[in-house]
Amino acid sequence: MSDAYFKVPQAINEKVLSYAPGSPEKAALKKALKEIKSKEVEVAMTIGGQKVKTAKKLSIHPPHELKHTLGHFYKGGAGEVKMAIDAALKAKPAWEQLPWQERAAIFLKAADLLAGPYRQKMNAACMLVQSKTVYQSEIDAVAELCDFWRFNVQFMAEIYKEQPLTVSGSGIWNRMEYRPLEGFVFALTPFNFASIAGNLPSAPALMGNVVVWKPAESQLYVSNLIMEILEEAGLPPGVINLVFVSGPVAGEVIFSHTDYAGIHFTGSTGVFQDLWQTMGKNLSNYRSYPRIVGETGGKDFIIAHSSANAPQVVTALTRGAFEYQGQKCSAVSRAYLPKSLWPDIKSGLLKDLKSIKMGNPEDFSNFMSAVIDERAFDKISSYIADAKKDKDAEIIFGGGYDKSKGYFIEPTVIVAKDPKYRTMCEEIFGPVLTIYVYDDEKYEDTLELLNNTSPYALTGAVFAKEREAVMLATERLRHSAGNFYINDKPTGAVVGQQPFGGARGSGTNDKAGSILNLYRWVSARAIKENFVSPTDYRYPFMAEE
Ligand code: NAD
Repeated sequence: MSDAYFKVPQAINEKVLSYAPGSPEKAALKKALKEIKSKEVEVAMTIGGQKVKTAKKLSIHPPHELKHTLGHFYKGGAGEVKMAIDAALKAKPAWEQLPWQERAAIFLKAADLLAGPYRQKMNAACMLVQSKTVYQSEIDAVAELCDFWRFNVQFMAEIYKEQPLTVSGSGIWNRMEYRPLEGFVFALTPFNFASIAGNLPSAPALMGNVVVWKPAESQLYVSNLIMEILEEAGLPPGVINLVFVSGPVAGEVIFSHTDYAGIHFTGSTGVFQDLWQTMGKNLSNYRSYPRIVGETGGKDFIIAHSSANAPQVVTALTRGAFEYQGQKCSAVSRAYLPKSLWPDIKSGLLKDLKSIKMGNPEDFSNFMSAVIDERAFDKISSYIADAKKDKDAEIIFGGGYDKSKGYFIEPTVIVAKDPKYRTMCEEIFGPVLTIYVYDDEKYEDTLELLNNTSPYALTGAVFAKEREAVMLATERLRHSAGNFYINDKPTGAVVGQQPFGGARGSGTNDKAGSILNLYRWVSARAIKENFVSPTDYRYPFMAEE
């Protein structure tokens, strides 16, 4: 096959629009926000291409404006999960037979629809449902999801092109067939990124798999819109089936099914570990060993060396810890700062935080909004309440919270006297940053301390001007983060540029949006064809002398 056969459009990252005052995108977004707020929508499950409703109808509200109703969704149960599996298995033969270019075209078209006619509808939905500012929505729900869809097509073509050695004239042809997995894939997605919600079912589907997709309940309005785009792009019925059920109900049906072939998960570490144990217990029931891909929690760090530039550290802390209310898996939640720089960093950080506005993302001057739901609010505020009482912790900024109108929590900074204080170790997943101030001469010891403080290893950053300090951190923290940054905040990974994923308790590190991830969704078959098959079992060495 010539190289041209594997040529696909060259993927480049989707441009992030500015939404500056007077820009056409801002005008279009305002219109879309108004439209979404003016009507209540009915969000139904999508199973085998059909919209499925049940008797259980629940309302959807913006986390920052609880009195407003955006619409309702229909909650399913075990029956709908079974229907989704059946629909997926029914769609499988035709989908996996489809030439790969046809599958690619569907996802490339979905990206262009999202970047074009659906862009502001998606941003408006994401702002209202997930309480994101327009910038946070644009980089996630538009740019990153477009990137996943486009780059994955390119990686798929690269995988298919990779073929074993065959020497012309040798009488044989060796081929590698990148088969989809036998059975169906379960995509279990978190609330915090629309791009992840869209990518987890799409990546296996692109490789020819069929999928049952269960999004987080607080995010399903946006997931439904992603499904609408995929359908508009021509995704055949049953290839991806979207169900709204509780996690344990879905797990119960899926993990006991013989045709369960793998999970594409992003979410918390505890949930992932429980799921893995369930799969282990059911292992002998499965046709194949399931592929287990899970990107999970983090306790992401910044360490600054005494040679660092204080204002740069301040900006990295403010953006890294508090954008999207600290609800990014990559958000900075612990920082190790040298005593000599602490006064400057502290005053800069407090100045930044005092200037931050929090509220409804429809007011574009807000930098922060509400956290996702009451469970998150209660969990995060309990950490803050404890810190107020603990002698090892001092809250130097924020500490307030209020859920009367929406789930609002002030950006909060804790200074820990004990470097192993709870909030230096555990994932809080909210706008809470804990800082430990170390003696300048203990930089090396502090790297050691950092490395041994939490079970996670997702993202982290070092700030230093001295190259030796950079090198030392890079070496000592080799296993402390799957995404490591030098003089940059540890959030905002870009598809194709910084493939994302962590190790240790943070996941299987299969790097979403990279070729590594796509390899997990194929089970290769090596094919050898002999053009002139031998007709005598004897080898020449056996002949009489
Ligand atoms: P979560 O673990 O609560 O939920 C993730 C998904 O699992 C949801 O769809 C949920 O309904 C489902 N679920 C929950 N309990 C279940 C159970 N017992 N059985 C089956 N399914 C179950 O996570 P979340 O709150 O939606 O997302 C935040 C978490 O995700 C954080 O820990 C964050 O660090 C992590 N995250 C990690 C990455 C990464 O790339 N490493 C990216 C984004 C988010």
